[in-house]
Amino acid sequence: MGQHSGEGESRENERGEGGTRHGESGEGERTAGERTAAERTAAERRAVARWRDIAGADAVADDEAALAAVSRNTSAFRPRRVVAVLRPSDAAQVAAIVRVAREEKVPLHPYSTGFNWGLGSRLPVRDGCALLDLSRMDRVREVDPAGRYAIVEPGVTQLQLADHLAAHHPDLVANVTGSSPHSSVVGNLLERGTGFRRHRAEEVRGLEVVLGTGQPMRTGLWAGEGSRQLHHYPYGVGPRLDGLFVQSGLGVVTAAVVDLLPRQECLRLLVFTLSEAALPGVVDAVRELFLRGTLRSIVHVFNDKRVLAMAGGGRVPTWTGAVAVDGTAEQVALAVADARRTLTAAGASPRVLAEADAAAPGADPVVTALWDVHTGRPTTAFLHGLYQSVPGKETPADPDVLDGTSVGYLACMPVAAVDGRTVAELVALVEKTCAEHGMVPAIAVNPTGPDYLESVVNLYFDRDDPAQEEAARACNTALHRRLYEDGFRFYRVGVETMEALTGWDTAPWETIGLLKAALDPDGILSPGRYAPL
Ligand SMILES: Cc1cc2nc3c(=O)[nH]c(=O)nc-3n(C[C@H](O)[C@H](O)[C@H](O)COP(=O)(O)OP(=O)(O)OC[C@H]3O[C@@H](n4cnc5c(N)ncnc54)[C@H](O)[C@@H]3O)c2cc1C
Repeated sequence: MGQHSGEGESRENERGEGGTRHGESGEGERTAGERTAAERTAAERRAVARWRDIAGADAVADDEAALAAVSRNTSAFRPRRVVAVLRPSDAAQVAAIVRVAREEKVPLHPYSTGFNWGLGSRLPVRDGCALLDLSRMDRVREVDPAGRYAIVEPGVTQLQLADHLAAHHPDLVANVTGSSPHSSVVGNLLERGTGFRRHRAEEVRGLEVVLGTGQPMRTGLWAGEGSRQLHHYPYGVGPRLDGLFVQSGLGVVTAAVVDLLPRQECLRLLVFTLSEAALPGVVDAVRELFLRGTLRSIVHVFNDKRVLAMAGGGRVPTWTGAVAVDGTAEQVALAVADARRTLTAAGASPRVLAEADAAAPGADPVVTALWDVHTGRPTTAFLHGLYQSVPGKETPADPDVLDGTSVGYLACMPVAAVDGRTVAELVALVEKTCAEHGMVPAIAVNPTGPDYLESVVNLYFDRDDPAQEEAARACNTALHRRLYEDGFRFYRVGVETMEALTGWDTAPWETIGLLKAALDPDGILSPGRYAPL
């Protein structure tokens, strides 16, 4: 049984059944989800008019077509009733918008670029929110080459940051994800995402936030003026607050100070293949390599969903791993020799790749894509792979339109110890559950260091086929439930799993409720996001 806060319960009662019924009198018995744009509450109409005054008419869309478009999502989640889409252009507008939301009691769901694919895209957890699209706030405010950090606004994409560094600071490298080049740095960080080189949580040096009260604030030493080497010491004094705004609905982040990687003299990519039988031993070997300092960058290990599908389950599937090793040429030579020896002894077949291998004419596109992301260049290759995973689908000219296509994608993200036996049990449970639903999962197990690995279980399906869509949905629900019951926990969940998550004893929900009541007293920021409704 999970802990529920008194605060969360009283809000739910105010809203009525399922948290979707609006509390305002005179609105009859229709749920918020059933209302059309033309049937907005008086408070919603007032809020939209006031938001137009703040941000300008072109920054507020509330026509049926625009609202339907933002609700459409690749995961086939139920569309939410959205009040409006707001596109402010600076932090002052954000603060004014939040104050209006508070006064009119119309909730906001902020996002940076809205590519939270597999987990809900731009969808809020509950109906009746206005979406706060921060993509127009897209300034790289500052890069400090000596301090190795960038101050970026929510709309700054990973491609924009990579291009900026390549043009102005070639000695610095961005930690990029496998998502769209046009996905954001800040949104990824606030979902506690992971780049190919390291976990985003390690990169936060400070946040600029508008709280749910409408108050602007900055975390750590950034709260004040006159500090020498301001962003060199991320902890500040007193409680460290950055973590409060990651996976929460406590504030709207209007800028983040993010750590950048130094470009090293030498980088090699270690790519290794292994059978599923060798996976536990290879995971244990990776742990040893982290413990003795040979590896310092995240290791990604993927199954090959298509090989498995072609083999009809009758052959042993092949897995592929990749990790970057960088430093001076001497350091890299030593690390590569150790990693190669250790992985080979564990049953993997490693190859060591340099830039020329990735850039050579006719190079394996998988190698090129892995090289790009490990060296700070975002790529569309992984997105392309997603489209190719659903038979009969083509990658559109603009792959970012995923939510508007019939390619279906759901993700389940358990966390586990870097321990061979645990990983074998995790993979076996995932494969068994998926097989029962007629699904073939694309699985990644990504050790971030010696202690924990993040797994990503992707389910791809054809949204034109209702039976496949239903199977994928049921499979995703079963995966979460069974993994939870087997003692696995999740590091990230989708909007339709939030309710189950907050019913499980996986976080101090009561305390989170107290924080929510203090920083967002009217519950107007992303209600239900990693918090009880
Ligand atoms: C092929 C493919 C590969 C992928 N690879 C990766 C990967 O390697 N690593 C990874 O982590 N993910 C990956 N993803 C998942 C996802 O696409 C990324 O995490 C992506 O960065 C999230 O989208 P976004 O940057 O637009 O964030 P958004 O959707 O803008 O934000 C995510 C959430 O954070 C909150 N939020 C965002 N901005 C703010 C703000 N300013 N203030 C308050 N709250 C905010 C909101 O709740 C929002 O829903 C992948 C997806 C696909 C399809």
